[in-house]
Amino acid sequence: MPADRNAFPFPRGLPAVSDATDRDPEFAFELRVCRWAERAWHPDGLRPAIVARQLGTRERRWDTVVVEVDPEAFAARRALSTDGFDSDLLRVVRHAPADWAWYRDAIPEPDFPWRHVVPAVHRAAGRGVVEKRRGTRNRVEYRQTVPYPEWVERIVAIENKPNLDASAARALADQLEHDVSRALADEVWVATEATGDRVEPALLEDLPVEVGILAVGEDSTEVLWHPSTLTPDPTDARRRLVLAERAYDRGWRSYVETMRPDCRYFELDRRGRALVPKCAAKGCYQSQRECAHSCSAFEPEPPAWRMNGWPIDGGPGAGVRRILAARRDRVRERIGDPQRDP
Ligand code: SF4
Repeated sequence: MPADRNAFPFPRGLPAVSDATDRDPEFAFELRVCRWAERAWHPDGLRPAIVARQLGTRERRWDTVVVEVDPEAFAARRALSTDGFDSDLLRVVRHAPADWAWYRDAIPEPDFPWRHVVPAVHRAAGRGVVEKRRGTRNRVEYRQTVPYPEWVERIVAIENKPNLDASAARALADQLEHDVSRALADEVWVATEATGDRVEPALLEDLPVEVGILAVGEDSTEVLWHPSTLTPDPTDARRRLVLAERAYDRGWRSYVETMRPDCRYFELDRRGRALVPKCAAKGCYQSQRECAHSCSAFEPEPPAWRMNGWPIDGGPGAGVRRILAARRDRVRERIGDPQRDP
């Protein structure tokens, strides 16, 4: 963010910015958990992983998703494309043959009409991740540019509950039971805010025994309960890969796409090793929902803030987007480097 972002007089009548963690803290906590996981996954020892948030299936959305990766294969996946593949593209790219072939000979028969596959072949070719041509009898043929790598090792789901008291644990229990029995993820955790207090045994009893519990502090994280390793059904392999591709595409900093970094009150505040959105007008860590087009306190950043480089680089709001995108790219470049310190 430009140094002059906060150099403008703070408007009269607005509350001073305070560490109001009691105001909708779940979003800020979730971002801290994502950042911690990005830097320090797994609690038993470092494993290369990418992190995303608010992902899942139609039935269940997880707060944080950690995809453990094979570093070399991840580098190959990244070389193929820095964007994720949706499920239609994934079908085409994953089954792309080494030599020219009719798409119907290369791809397993889908549970919908073949004609819906053709646009995805064209899209994949348009992105340069496969090559296509018209073959005999005017058939659409295609082939890989490079093979789609097997980059996903494990998928881990984390439910974030900063105030994990007994009633919150009871409310979570059914969802976690579902996660454990469904076993779409290899491991399920609950992350809670570290308080330094002794953990009530009754609280642990309310959660399924297979679910791990993490106490996340500003600078350190403690495992309160180790999870069991689940056994995903092999028939879920494609669904898990679609989930991993969405995690790769979205990451966890994409929240900024729906928030208002172009508002004069939008700031990024450092919490531990994470940058968390903070609203100078409301004096709190605002939620993603309230920092939207409907926010009545929104004010556009003054044009004067955009003088440096504007209109080419935009103002501080555009700077926020650039900072977050650069952080994401830097972290991904370092995956696989044993000396990494993202
Ligand atoms: S849009 Fe609203 S919540 Fe977001 S920074 Fe501006 S005033 Fe705060």
